[in-house]
Amino acid sequence: MKRPCAGRVYEGRVMSSFGCSSPATRERDGKWWCFHHDPIAIEKKRKARNEKWEREQEENDKKQDIADKLLKRLGVPGSIKLMWKGGYQSAIVIDFDDAEKLLKELGR
Ligand SMILES: [Zn+2]
Repeated sequence: MKRPCAGRVYEGRVMSSFGCSSPATRERDGKWWCFHHDPIAIEKKRKARNEKWEREQEENDKKQDIADKLLKRLGVPGSIKLMWKGGYQSAIVIDFDDAEKLLKELGR
């Protein structure tokens, strides 16, 4: 027997929803859910996403720290930025003006 999933599908610009039409394959606390709406799977995914975000945050903090130290040693204003490409890269970006200042200081 095919059981309906207790999940709801949200659609469109206005918040309208309708019952999920996927067959339910697992029971949680007396309700049946499909693969996508399984509350335990959703919770697991949410947790994994949070952990990934925290790891990335930690990684970015470390890179920010390295960038700050490099900036200080380079002796140019703080308009140099960490390279961003969907996450901090291990590179800093220097403005033309700051590059000129730095070159002047280096006597080049
Ligand atoms: Zn479902």
